[in-house]
Amino acid sequence: MLSVEEALEKVLAMFRPLEAERAPVLETLGRVLAEDVVATGDIPPHANTAMDGYAVLAADLEGAGPDSAKRLRVIENLAAGYVASERVTSGTAIRIMTGAPMPEGADAVIPFEETHQDGMPQGGAWVDCFVEMRVGANVRPAGEDVHAGERALTRGTRIRPQEIGMLAALGYGEVAVIRRPRVAILATGDELVGVDAPLLPGKIRNANSYSNAAQVLQYGGIPLMLGIARDTVEDLTAKIRAGLAQGADLLMTSGGVSVGDFDVVKKVLAAEGEISFWRVLMKPGKPLAFGYITAEVDGVPHTVPMLGMPGNPVSAMVSFELFARPAILTMLGVQELRKPTFEAILDQEIRSKDARRHYVRVRVERREDGFHAMLTGEQGSGILNSMVRSNGLAIIPEDWDHAPAGARVQVMLFE
Ligand code: AMP
Ligand code: MG
Repeated sequence: MLSVEEALEKVLAMFRPLEAERAPVLETLGRVLAEDVVATGDIPPHANTAMDGYAVLAADLEGAGPDSAKRLRVIENLAAGYVASERVTSGTAIRIMTGAPMPEGADAVIPFEETHQDGMPQGGAWVDCFVEMRVGANVRPAGEDVHAGERALTRGTRIRPQEIGMLAALGYGEVAVIRRPRVAILATGDELVGVDAPLLPGKIRNANSYSNAAQVLQYGGIPLMLGIARDTVEDLTAKIRAGLAQGADLLMTSGGVSVGDFDVVKKVLAAEGEISFWRVLMKPGKPLAFGYITAEVDGVPHTVPMLGMPGNPVSAMVSFELFARPAILTMLGVQELRKPTFEAILDQEIRSKDARRHYVRVRVERREDGFHAMLTGEQGSGILNSMVRSNGLAIIPEDWDHAPAGARVQVMLFE
């Protein structure tokens, strides 16, 4: 049996970043930039005022003070989005709003708060100025944010809302990013029925395809819903081939990987490709098969990695977090694959005698002495309810046979 790290290493060896595609800017959130973004012009494109006030010549305000106002003639009223038609010359000012381009001649802006105007609501014929202004005061020069020709964003960057804002400011309606991986999801089990099918005797609903598809979406992949395969080699093989034909970059199954009489996933994986490993020292999720499937799609041979996750709903989700998530992020071109963990104080004892790494559903809360982790209920691998109540997993190392209350453990949050 492999440790979680050994298994992850074998998984990641099968994945590379996918090709780039051009995507509309709003569809790039969370994805990785596949080109350097160079500014074709200055941002802002023109010098403009940072304040509402009056564009002036700083020299005109020399000697201005609370008791010695300098009076200037107001020759124009300029809103953001327009260019002044007049030039500011000595003794004149242009009333100006934040973001409006600096009028020619003016070299400073005196804010409204430092002036008194002749009483008209939109400004009048003159303004009294009560302070001196240095040259450049309240003026934002062209290119203050980004200079023309400068590399504003670097290839390999993961796009966040601020990168999207920068792309928009630079006029990029679309940009090259790594494409999103297509992840085929197949549930296995004669007992499974679809989410809105009648629940006949002996049947349960297929929860895993939905929780796993939601995880695929959460981490930036595109889920391909392949439905439910019966526990036969024929049906499973047919459904897996159908998934490949849809252009899957990763195949995921749930159920059918342990040692029961009808556990056919390993059989199919061995027959259609190769098994890399099928057991990992973790709980939940010990039976976890990984390998690849080879099949012809339109006459061209295709090899696609396949992750056969256990059927129990919590095992399927935890295995996804540990193995599918880093695989998807690798295909997306993301560098940092580790989920951030931090230390928390356990509020209850946890027994973990079996030399596997335990992932325990907890609710993490911040208190005065630090973060605390409380169990959210029954930890059976079929108990989705304790998953619903949890916001993270506490990690109990394989060489602990129990974790006493008060122990400090690493936790990872789902979000
Ligand atoms: P298996 O790994 O196939 O032995 O399944 C283990 C347990 O998980 C069984 O109780 C199955 O009924 C249950 N199970 C398997 N697949 C699903 C699924 N897609 N949704 C909900 N439960 C499942
Ligand atoms: Mg099964």
